[in-house]
Amino acid sequence: MDPVDAEALEAAAECLVRARYAIALTGAGLSVESGIPPFRGPGGLWTKHGEPPMNGFQRFMANPRKAWEERLNPSGPMRELWDALAAARPNPGHDALVELEELGILRALITQNVDNLHRLAGSRRLLEIHGNATLIRCLGCVTRFGRDEIDFSALPPRCPHCEGLLKSDTVSFGEPIPPDVLEGCFEEAARADCMIVAGTSATVYPAAQFPLDVRERGGDLIEVNPYPSELTAVSRYAIQGPAGEVLPRLAALVRERL
Ligand SMILES: [Zn+2]
Repeated sequence: MDPVDAEALEAAAECLVRARYAIALTGAGLSVESGIPPFRGPGGLWTKHGEPPMNGFQRFMANPRKAWEERLNPSGPMRELWDALAAARPNPGHDALVELEELGILRALITQNVDNLHRLAGSRRLLEIHGNATLIRCLGCVTRFGRDEIDFSALPPRCPHCEGLLKSDTVSFGEPIPPDVLEGCFEEAARADCMIVAGTSATVYPAAQFPLDVRERGGDLIEVNPYPSELTAVSRYAIQGPAGEVLPRLAALVRERL
């Protein structure tokens, strides 16, 4: 028997085709399916190695040189994470979201993941709310750079544009979410009348707010998670299963209807 609720899947595809402005929100569940360890739960980096300090941003600001030395020569759990990030490739769930965007159905994708996999897969209108681990951001002018654009001969590195302090684009604990991304997310959530939530139970603020915003304005939520979550009760369509399996089927059903 098909473990995925085929009826809900069909109805969700209908909903996407009907939607005036559909967006998606993704989280760690999608990355796990690409071999990136989660932070918490079984096999989680922090479960194994202990929780990281909750004031990572303040520690960075107190000694950016030391933070950069650690970043450039990672050890322990950070080494493990960087190795996993370097090896990870997009999975069929990432590809299905690209397809939905190319079909003109999905207008924007908000992700809590920092692993760059949505970019690698080819998503275009992408809002990385917790940043992107492969990028470096200027704390002054908020320009983002690739690693090869930056001179690391003196630490901490400085912005080629404004001499501002550079930091990994990944949003640290205690660090405000960059305003350009946060505003973009709220704007997208305010426009959406349909939202796919995949690989996340969206319990962490501010990401938790976006599905609620869509719901409160009468929009439809399509939840794709392996297990029921707090979102299940408020989702019009809750499809249980791995995103890498469910999203490609959803995209195929949408394509059939266009
Ligand atoms: Zn700058």
